[in-house]
Amino acid sequence: MIARVTLEIALRKEFDYLIPAELAGQVEVGSRVKVPFGARQVFGCVTALVEASPCARLRPLLRVVGRQSLMTPRVLELARWIAAYYCCPVEIAVKSVLPEAVRREKEGWRERLFVRALPVSGPLPKLSKRQAEIHAIIEGRKELPLQELLRMTGTTAETVRRLEDRGLIAVAAQVSERDPYAHEVILPTSPLVLNPEQQRALDAITRALDTRRDARFADRARSLTGDESRVASGARHAPFLLHGVTGSGKTEVYLQAIAHALALGLGAIVLVPEISLTPQTVERFKARFCSGRLQTLVAVLHSHLSAGERHDEWHKIRQGRARIVIGARSAIFAPVEPLGLIIVDEEHEHSYKQEEAPRYHARDVAVVRAQREGAVVVLGSATPSLESYYNARRGKYVLLELPSRVDNQKLPVVRVVDLCREYRGDKGIPILSNLLREAVTRRLERKEQVILFLNRRGYATSLQCPRCGYVANCPNCSVALTYHRSRQQLLCHICGHQKPAPTACPEASCRNPAIRYAGLGTQRVEETLRRVFPHAQIQRMDSDVLKRKEDYRRILGDFRTGKIDILLGTQMIAKGLHFPNVTLVGIIHADLTLHVPDFRSAERTFQLLTQVSGRAGRGDVEGEVIVQSFTPYHPAIQYAKRHDFINFYEQEIEFRAQLKYPPISRIALLTLKGRNEDKVKFTAAHVKRELDTALAGFKDAVLSGPAPAPLLRAETLYRHQIMLRIRQLAKASAVLAEVIDRFSLPQEVTLTVDIDPVNLT
Ligand code: ADP
Ligand code: ZN
Repeated sequence: MIARVTLEIALRKEFDYLIPAELAGQVEVGSRVKVPFGARQVFGCVTALVEASPCARLRPLLRVVGRQSLMTPRVLELARWIAAYYCCPVEIAVKSVLPEAVRREKEGWRERLFVRALPVSGPLPKLSKRQAEIHAIIEGRKELPLQELLRMTGTTAETVRRLEDRGLIAVAAQVSERDPYAHEVILPTSPLVLNPEQQRALDAITRALDTRRDARFADRARSLTGDESRVASGARHAPFLLHGVTGSGKTEVYLQAIAHALALGLGAIVLVPEISLTPQTVERFKARFCSGRLQTLVAVLHSHLSAGERHDEWHKIRQGRARIVIGARSAIFAPVEPLGLIIVDEEHEHSYKQEEAPRYHARDVAVVRAQREGAVVVLGSATPSLESYYNARRGKYVLLELPSRVDNQKLPVVRVVDLCREYRGDKGIPILSNLLREAVTRRLERKEQVILFLNRRGYATSLQCPRCGYVANCPNCSVALTYHRSRQQLLCHICGHQKPAPTACPEASCRNPAIRYAGLGTQRVEETLRRVFPHAQIQRMDSDVLKRKEDYRRILGDFRTGKIDILLGTQMIAKGLHFPNVTLVGIIHADLTLHVPDFRSAERTFQLLTQVSGRAGRGDVEGEVIVQSFTPYHPAIQYAKRHDFINFYEQEIEFRAQLKYPPISRIALLTLKGRNEDKVKFTAAHVKRELDTALAGFKDAVLSGPAPAPLLRAETLYRHQIMLRIRQLAKASAVLAEVIDRFSLPQEVTLTVDIDPVNLT
């Protein structure tokens, strides 16, 4: 038997190895193996078992890692699809579907020594006083970790060994699982009575799950009767798009849909954006499924876990003990089997897109995976992406709607302030308009809470000299440095470059001491708030404040318990938080996301405004939102003000259609990077010519560029881009891959391909 293996060193090629007799039967498709490669030994993944190989003189593989194959054949197939569609080598796709902690061997199960009391018949042998004490403790606990015993009693391993010699206790190694949530006490919850809209949505999902179960039975019957012709489950369902306003109770629908899947013997994956994967979110799922009748383990996969914890969580899933997985982007590869349901919450979120190879979009992978495994997929959002809503309109997805908040709470009233009209002569434009200042004052008087939002950290966005025009720019990137006042540093938000903030203009011919800081960051807003509301408890929350992983939790805890009156933050506070006492949300600058050179800027602004507004009025008191803007009549702002997604969609889709932007067509973005700009430009022009020829057969393909990227230089590298717009991108991907493979790049120029990019800079 021969194993075909992709190696972890990306070579865009698979290699054949003999399976030695002693490993026969242990190697499966998906097994992780160690193989000789030249003089080295490398890891790889078995992608197929074959009888014969075109190569002569095969070398034997060295060993198999782990008892169970790490990758299920289905996940392996998914990795192949990713490689083909996202135009990346198979090895890279295969590597990315297994967490690092699972791939590395040394994170194996943690084994600890446990001490256990043995039954004693008759009287105890004679023991010293100390020995008798220790023995009594062990008997009392029946079993406990050796380390704990030693710590607790201050005794030595030697004393314990003497007890063992006398046959009173046993010491043995046992696997102990690292449970990142072990210290938490979670109160169980039971299903809520759904309102009619929630019930309708749930019914549609459970009906689809029932057909999924029936198809599985039919498959099993077919395979039992030897009819293997169509074992992969048929009965494909269109994905569901659950469009529910903020606070409409989407999560409750997810929970009851998962319960239904479990009852049918099917597992579930729940994806949430990394930023919303808070303890609060995880608890809602654990509280329903980790206690009571179901006792189904919920596994959590995200980047804050230690490598060991991630290893254990992942294996709990692989062994089938955890039936529900909740995690960020990469949890879409969790080896849940059989998989019944995938939920993608906040499906419009850009963090579902991975910004390094393989540049996959977890929502799209979810749709593909569900389709291949016959599972049901639910995409949920208060502000669906244009892509998903377009698919719903075209009948590719089934639209489920929750148009009102639970218990018919009203959506908040949104007022828009025109910042241009707040201009105060010499003093310029204030950070807080009169309306917002008064609104905050009222909330403080009534002991209600306020959230203020500004999507930019730091103090000021640039340092300028009003006399000579000097601006402090990053030496590595084409952006201005941001001033961080607390550290007295100028910082680049792209590459991290920093230097001390000067006290006078650094130009030798100028030296003006009156340098100015322009643009607004959260630190500066905080300073103003402390001056205007000296008695309020104010807390800033952005990545500069959050240094340790407990910080996020602590701040939200303080806000929940009313220790904070005003919470000021970046988009970190825009998502999913639920605080009944927040009755006012203020948006300091709504325009920040509007004027970036990206065709999705209006969509992003609409989504952000809607999400932030959704934090207001989640309790008994009606909420109010105040949006400050320099362009108050922009459609993204006006439609968000009216909570009018549908009309925003209608007008935005027209614009996309005119310019052939997604979702009307798809995009592939090629970026060439290098230190020498001329070389980059020249290479880009060459690649463009190759593509023109290779794609000549695609009627609707539009190739534009090469052109300088919006962010021309980042981390010392110049960047030029070529953009392809086309409907049938899957077919074009293959052509792109071929061109890239064939093309030999000059030294020091690199090329990346981003399929369905979300970041165009
Ligand atoms: P969304 O995810 O749509 O923003 P949530 O699922 O967080 O909304 O629901 C908002 C609040 O309403 C939560 O506190 C939830 O427990 C509650 N809720 C949801 N469905 C119901 C229901 N049918 N009856 C009563 N309360 C509900
Ligand atoms: Zn920089």
